[in-house]
Amino acid sequence: MSGRPTVEELEKLVEQLQQHNSILSTSLEQSNTELQALQEDHNLLKNRYQKDIEELKKAQITLNKEKEFSQKLLDCLPGIFYLYTYPQLRLIYWNKNHERLLGFTADEIRNRHIMDWHVPGVEPIVQQAVDLVMEKGENVLESPLLHKNGEYVPFLMTGISFDTPEQRYLMGFGIDITDRKRIEYALKESESLFRLLAENSTDIIASHNANGEFVYVSPSCKTLLGYEPKELIGRSAFEFIHPDDKVKIEKSWQNVVEKPAITTFTFRILSKDGPYVWFEAVLKSIFDEATGKLKEIHASSRDITKRKLNEDKLEESETKLTTLFNAMTEMVVIHEVIFDENGNPKDYKIIDCNKAYTAITGIEKKDAIGRLGSEVYQSDIPPYLDEFSKVALTGEAFEYTTYYAPMDKHFIISVVSPGPNKFATITTDITAVHEIQEIIQEKNKELENYLYVASHDLRTPLVNIHGFSQRFQKHIEAISGCIEDCTINSDKSELVKKITSEEIPRTLNFILSNVSKMDGLINGLLQISRTGRIKMTIKKLDMGQLIKSIVSGMNFQLAEIDAKVNIEELPDCYGDNMQLNQMFTNIITNAIKYHDKGRPLVINISGKVRYNKVIYSIHDNGVGIAPRHQKRIWDVFYRVDSSSQITGEGLGLSIAKRIIDKHKGKIWVESEEGVGSTFFIELLNTEFSE
Ligand code: ADP
Repeated sequence: MSGRPTVEELEKLVEQLQQHNSILSTSLEQSNTELQALQEDHNLLKNRYQKDIEELKKAQITLNKEKEFSQKLLDCLPGIFYLYTYPQLRLIYWNKNHERLLGFTADEIRNRHIMDWHVPGVEPIVQQAVDLVMEKGENVLESPLLHKNGEYVPFLMTGISFDTPEQRYLMGFGIDITDRKRIEYALKESESLFRLLAENSTDIIASHNANGEFVYVSPSCKTLLGYEPKELIGRSAFEFIHPDDKVKIEKSWQNVVEKPAITTFTFRILSKDGPYVWFEAVLKSIFDEATGKLKEIHASSRDITKRKLNEDKLEESETKLTTLFNAMTEMVVIHEVIFDENGNPKDYKIIDCNKAYTAITGIEKKDAIGRLGSEVYQSDIPPYLDEFSKVALTGEAFEYTTYYAPMDKHFIISVVSPGPNKFATITTDITAVHEIQEIIQEKNKELENYLYVASHDLRTPLVNIHGFSQRFQKHIEAISGCIEDCTINSDKSELVKKITSEEIPRTLNFILSNVSKMDGLINGLLQISRTGRIKMTIKKLDMGQLIKSIVSGMNFQLAEIDAKVNIEELPDCYGDNMQLNQMFTNIITNAIKYHDKGRPLVINISGKVRYNKVIYSIHDNGVGIAPRHQKRIWDVFYRVDSSSQITGEGLGLSIAKRIIDKHKGKIWVESEEGVGSTFFIELLNTEFSE
């Protein structure tokens, strides 16, 4: 088209415009309506979004809280928590304990590779464990983890896999098992120690379950009972126990099964080859600390056959002893010393006594046992406290003879110590013996008097016989001279000559030699009777001095036979100087007289104190005395060899014995023929009267 538009064209255009306009208005109206609708939608949406945003904000807060809660929860866990990316195995999340237990800071931990925590060399094991987690979803691994201080701490870890669409993760939790490991180690140690002890024990060591079945038996059961350990495993110990002992043992067993306990008992157990053997067992039940359930029962059993035998013997001998104790006519009392605050004995308590005690003292057993000596005997200080306590404290036995005035009785009391601070008195009532002894002493005195008188009186006729025999001899000599001068029938003269010059002198010689023998005997008897009659002066004697003076008086004889005398330090004693001098002289003289010519004589003289007594011994290496003579050498006029060239009358030892008797002592000999003799002399080292 070209040039100016026509009206028509314009009208058409206006019409078109109007049409457009109306379309536009309509659409504008529509748009407005739509816009309004849109505005409304917009408002609606805006409201909704605002709500969503608020909710989102709330959700964000909740999420943060939950995250904080989870973190706190993880931090509260007693062990370590970790989250590794997989397969990179880099640590991206952990809890506080991870830092604390292994000593590394958060920066040092972040992104650390899983293998960095493990002991070099175990990587394949760790990798395998990790792969298993990722494959199966979970797995457990026990492995030490590196601590910052360079040490490795044992951990038990539980791993699980966790996947998101973008990434796989390995997370888990580990606990420090140092203590458990230590206990396990100690347990292993003690188990191996137990094994070592059990395997080498001479006792039978066994473990049982609650039913008594053997779980373990040590090899010693083969040697002690004949069973191989494996034949007992699974069998009940009760099968082997003697029927009579079962009830007792079942009771003990029940005790240890119910609660942790230890019990000991003796029983008989069947050995493989038949007989029952006595055993003593100690049972100990082991309970699981965690569950409180019975784990096992340990038994340690020892063969006590020998002990049982000894016990039986002991029981038997105890019964015998008790019977003896009560049947004894001697009173036996066992005491215990009671001390004052300074430790000095102040009294003694009666612990036990026998029947004879009541019979002799009249004190009932029940009134004596458990009571003090001072109460029982009603004296401030109980009788013989010093002497008795000395025995209890030193253990040295002691024996003495005493007169107990309150009972008007004579006793021999032997005191021994059966244990520390204890003493037993064995008391024999010798009142009757004492009375007899007194009578004997009286009679002895009488006899000695008779002996003295008789021997004294016998001497006068003997002196007469001797004198008249000599005179008779002279008369015969005179008659013989006369006969020479007279002329007598030759037959008769020969006979008279023979009688006067041969037979009468021979008879006279015989009479005179018997007179001298009888004189010797009477002298001996006189000596003996004198020994008995001499009044003694008892005093303390320096025995060393006394013996030395005796020996020096014999120096000549000793030198003649080249003899040696050794005198040890001698304790003193009480006695009569003259008489003991005589006694020791007799003994030492005999040692010299009866020395063995084949060896130089050596005499050893020694002495020792035994509580209130002294024992001297005189040992020689002489000819010795055969056992059959040893009892008789103390008899008057007894000589071992009556035809011996050695001078003697068989009086020395009988005089020695009398002297010792008078000193309330003892004398005895121990001798071996061809070897030598030892004479023992026991004297008192306390004052005494005749
Ligand atoms: P005697 O010496 O006078 O014969 P004793 O009474 O002294 O008498 O001794 C009696 C006997 O004991 C003696 O004959 C002698 O055989 C024997 N005898 C005494 N002491 C000893 C001694 N030390 N060694 C050997 N025998 C002895």
